[in-house]
Amino acid sequence: MITGKNYIGNKLSGKGTIVHKTINPKLNIENATAFIEATDNEIDEAVQLAWEAFKIYRKVSGKKRATFLNAIADGILALDQKLIDIFTAESGLPEGRAIGERGRTVFQLRSFAELISNDDWRENTIDKAEPNREPLPKEDLRRTLIPLGPVVVFGASNFPLAYSTAGGDTASALAAGCPVIIKAHEMHSGTSELVASAIIKAAEKTGMPNGVFSNLVGRGKIVGTALANHPKVKAVGFTGSIAGGRALFNLASQRKEPIPVFAEMGSINPVVITPAAIANRYEEIASTYASSITLGTGQFCTNPGLILTIDSNETQDFIKDLAEKTIAIDPQCMLHPNIKSGFNKNSSSITAQSGVETVAKIQGELKDNYAASQIASVSGTEFLNNPKTHQEVFGPFSLVVKCKDEEELIEVINGLEGQLTGTIIAEEEEYSNLEEIIDALENRVGRIIFNGVPTGVEVCPSMQHGGPYPASTDSRFTAVGTNSIKRWVRPISYQSFPNALLPKALKNI
Ligand code: NAP
Repeated sequence: MITGKNYIGNKLSGKGTIVHKTINPKLNIENATAFIEATDNEIDEAVQLAWEAFKIYRKVSGKKRATFLNAIADGILALDQKLIDIFTAESGLPEGRAIGERGRTVFQLRSFAELISNDDWRENTIDKAEPNREPLPKEDLRRTLIPLGPVVVFGASNFPLAYSTAGGDTASALAAGCPVIIKAHEMHSGTSELVASAIIKAAEKTGMPNGVFSNLVGRGKIVGTALANHPKVKAVGFTGSIAGGRALFNLASQRKEPIPVFAEMGSINPVVITPAAIANRYEEIASTYASSITLGTGQFCTNPGLILTIDSNETQDFIKDLAEKTIAIDPQCMLHPNIKSGFNKNSSSITAQSGVETVAKIQGELKDNYAASQIASVSGTEFLNNPKTHQEVFGPFSLVVKCKDEEELIEVINGLEGQLTGTIIAEEEEYSNLEEIIDALENRVGRIIFNGVPTGVEVCPSMQHGGPYPASTDSRFTAVGTNSIKRWVRPISYQSFPNALLPKALKNI
């Protein structure tokens, strides 16, 4: 049952007076439960409990933490249809997507469980003493990675499961040995409470300390800010808008003790399509990209929002075909009314810019919260001269840039803000000419895709999901895949330590 209360460790608590309801965007009505925003005292209680839990949890072995993560995965599956129903009611996303995202969430939890079942991920290094080294003896030095402390995770609106309460940030932080406090996304408070109940049960079943996990509901600017400001919070994970991520980053860096904020934010994910690819297979590329642009109503951080071409008659045919195929796909519901109004505002802002032409847009009356997919185009020169055309439109929208030549196309890439991904669609006979495009993309993005689409982010050790700002606040780290655990740890060296006092993994055997 969903209570509308916060989980402060393993206790349900609802002392506040401010409440909110989530919205069923398909029906455009409020869902039934009233969620009680956490008070300042409840926020403090959750963090203090996390701090106490940290003292124990940081020393729990990797194998035991793995049991905890696997128990969370089992608990999420056991929520069965209840979870699917609340997911769809709070997001407007179809049941198939809910099942797919649940599968991904469970897979991530199990992947981290496997990762921490041995100590390889800690990159332990041992430099033994050399007492007879000349001119000076060398000390014994041993290095490992240790957890930072309590982590606050902001649930994402566009992945109610996989990037939220038990999503990648939570799984990686718990795997690293950090307690987690969730600031549930306001629009997914019910999904968050249900998942939180599974995490709490798993913590109790596997003997984890109370406070290893809490789930708080409330507004970002109140509850989120108080959490990120709390002296005992040591890091933040965030997925959402540039405005929200940047506000938290600024706040965290102005604290008496600044802390890292790993925010994954805006991206328009440029796709370069070469003249030969357009000449040889523009219809196939148009079909593939119409699907990618509209997938999940375009509400993916890896949505292809910018397509870079070199202008020609064939390019004009491609743009027309892409536009027709995109608007032929049935309109879909967006996640919540604010996202829909943001989509309308941002797509109108771009198409109002000088030189931007709407090639096609779904016309007619749409149901509330459904998005009218749209393809627009602009010349390379107009794009270069007007940064307003570079803004992210979160939803089923893509801007095709028609460059004069390859030199202008490379200038366009160089002028972009940091991106999560860049894609190259090209033919084999062009391989020897692609170096400059690859070089330009390498400087702007975190992942380069060849002859594919940027949507669909595999969870595996080689995945890089993060890029230069504003794609993310720290391009050295990934938010997806097992390497994302590195965000929540720091290196420590032990010098000249007696074997008896060293952590187990650094001891002489
Ligand atoms: P959001 O507005 O950034 O909100 C995400 C979370 O951060 C929410 O819990 C929010 O709380 C909190 N928050 C926002 N501003 C804050 C602040 N100044 N201080 C503290 N906490 C703050 O993102 P959203 O609700 O998911 O969607 C809004 C827009 O963000 C979308 O239309 C889209 O443009 C963009 N977005 C981008 C991506 C991406 O991956 N590129 C993903 C999702 C969204 P409240 O709900 O109380 O505000």
